[in-house]
Amino acid sequence: MTKAYEVIDHTYDVVVVGAGGAGLRATFGLAEQGLKTACITKVFPTRSHTVAAQGGISASLGNMGPDDWRWHMYDTVKGSDWLGDQDAIEYMVREAVPAIIELEHYGVPFSRTEEGKIYQRPFGGMTTEFGEGPAAQRTCAAADRTGHAILHTLYQQSLKHQAEFYIEYFALDLIMNDEGECVGVMAWNLDDGTIHRFRAKMVILATGGYGRVYFSATSAHTCTGDGGGMVVRAGLPLQDMEFVQFHPTGIYGAGCLITEGVRGEGGILRNSEGERFMERYAPSAKDLASRDVVSRSMTMEILEGRGVGPEKDHIFLHIEHLDPNIINERLPGIAESAKIFAGVDVTKDPIPVVPTCHYNMGGIPTNYHGEVLTKKDGDPNVIVPGLMAAGEAACVSVHGANRLGSNSLLDLVVFGRATALRCAEVVDREGPHRAWPKDAGDYALARLDKARNASGGTPTAALRADMQRAMQNHCAVFRTEDSLQEGIKKMKDVWSGKDDIRVSDRTLVWNSDLVETLEFENLVEQAMLTIVGAEDRKESRGAQARDDYPDRDDVNWMHHTLAWIDEAGAVKLDKRPVNLQPMSNEVQSFPPKARVY
Ligand SMILES: Cc1cc2nc3c(=O)[nH]c(=O)nc-3n(C[C@H](O)[C@H](O)[C@H](O)COP(=O)(O)OP(=O)(O)OC[C@H]3O[C@@H](n4cnc5c(N)ncnc54)[C@H](O)[C@@H]3O)c2cc1C
Repeated sequence: MTKAYEVIDHTYDVVVVGAGGAGLRATFGLAEQGLKTACITKVFPTRSHTVAAQGGISASLGNMGPDDWRWHMYDTVKGSDWLGDQDAIEYMVREAVPAIIELEHYGVPFSRTEEGKIYQRPFGGMTTEFGEGPAAQRTCAAADRTGHAILHTLYQQSLKHQAEFYIEYFALDLIMNDEGECVGVMAWNLDDGTIHRFRAKMVILATGGYGRVYFSATSAHTCTGDGGGMVVRAGLPLQDMEFVQFHPTGIYGAGCLITEGVRGEGGILRNSEGERFMERYAPSAKDLASRDVVSRSMTMEILEGRGVGPEKDHIFLHIEHLDPNIINERLPGIAESAKIFAGVDVTKDPIPVVPTCHYNMGGIPTNYHGEVLTKKDGDPNVIVPGLMAAGEAACVSVHGANRLGSNSLLDLVVFGRATALRCAEVVDREGPHRAWPKDAGDYALARLDKARNASGGTPTAALRADMQRAMQNHCAVFRTEDSLQEGIKKMKDVWSGKDDIRVSDRTLVWNSDLVETLEFENLVEQAMLTIVGAEDRKESRGAQARDDYPDRDDVNWMHHTLAWIDEAGAVKLDKRPVNLQPMSNEVQSFPPKARVY
């Protein structure tokens, strides 16, 4: 197969796939330590989704009031609904403080207090005194563009340390040898159509989330979980895929967030009958009920046929009854977003909105060094040699069943750095590379070739739309046995529909049809694992809210889900215990408590 395509070979100590916050932090950490490092990215580094993060990054600096890493740890364990691994959480919250100082020294322009300290704002779920004290001001911010500031700074550092970049290269598949070790990765240069084979002692996947499994997602169109796809095709499991965080009001179609502030200012949700339905679901809080309650109520209305639009698949958010001066003064950004992304003048017409996928807690299982784990012969913590993961693509797991706002940017820099530190210990610079299989790269090329010549009757976009609708309607915030079963049936149809895909462009230069087909394959694998996991888990925990099993069930379900998928789309599930042991003895473990609403 490699003969049919011209292949250009490269050899490195470490290859990082992804140049978002996690990938860049890993890349320059590696280069800094003298490891020969390449970073492959399908989009220009500073266009990675990290650029869109607004709110901020958490750390118990205590600049705006008392704070302690133990309180941050407690909040994170509780936020994870006791599914987070406590060793990894302790590592993250302790490293948070030096990580922010480091970012500051690298040049991140954080907002400042009067005394010149880094400004910190309160965020949901962040408390003091182990939940007994007032809200903690723990989220460090660079105005409302923290992700932008961090990503640009990290890219500058990477250039300074002379890491080598392969920009607009699409990573296809891992190269695994007969011992089950990862020895490299295959990539396609989108710009000139050449194929590249990277040999490395370590591959680090930092490819971001897979939000685009859903019809509506706040994440970029490029968030297609390519790293997760590569991992499952290498016969390895993903972890906790059923846990997906949603936000109630993303703009229909585009997914861009409309902040809760809109409803705070008096905005109301109405169905196709013009009814203010939140009065029925939450008589006192109404439109300002908690995020999951509003999201679930909206989904109920849509499922019962009272959605708006030709497909009856979204809801209207009205603010045209508000005084235009209030809109101009307090919600100018929203008015602008609605105009650009929905073509709506909010002083005259309602904004079309829908519950929107915001974050994937699940991903590639790793320990807190970033080393990828699998389960073999009953041992759930077997390290896969040569492979690491970090960022939203990974499941360390610090977010467990639900992520607290501002803990993700932290996860990127702390675990991106951790992978670099671990590589310095375990990668033998002088030693040889691992055994290289004779057919290295053939699997990736065969898959590329098949997709490129796919000549069925269904365009990829049509099948992708079927997947996104099935997942949005059956595996978003409203989950019951019947609905999940129906969704699984639809997903099986989507899976078999893959055999009939049509790719109309056969070239290798900027072939977006082919890119989207390869991305769709990554998405559909992870969609299947998500919905099968959600059906299997018969409890409500964090973001997994089952209407038929409304309680958390620590006796039967306090474990991570490991999920494999084969070429026929058959899913195998298994368990991995949650680590309730902190890393040090400076903090006690936080045992599960009854949930307080
Ligand atoms: C709108 C929005 C707002 C958010 N706000 C916050 C916030 O305020 N605070 C917070 O903590 N979190 C926030 N989050 C979450 C957080 O921003 C993300 O989880 C995080 O940025 C993900 O970073 P990452 O490095 O893992 O991946 P990304 O930034 O998504 O980068 C992925 C990288 O992988 C590369 N890649 C992917 N596939 C391939 C392939 N096949 N070949 C080559 N390269 C590939 C891409 O080119 C890209 O460089 C927000 C998320 C969104 C969507």
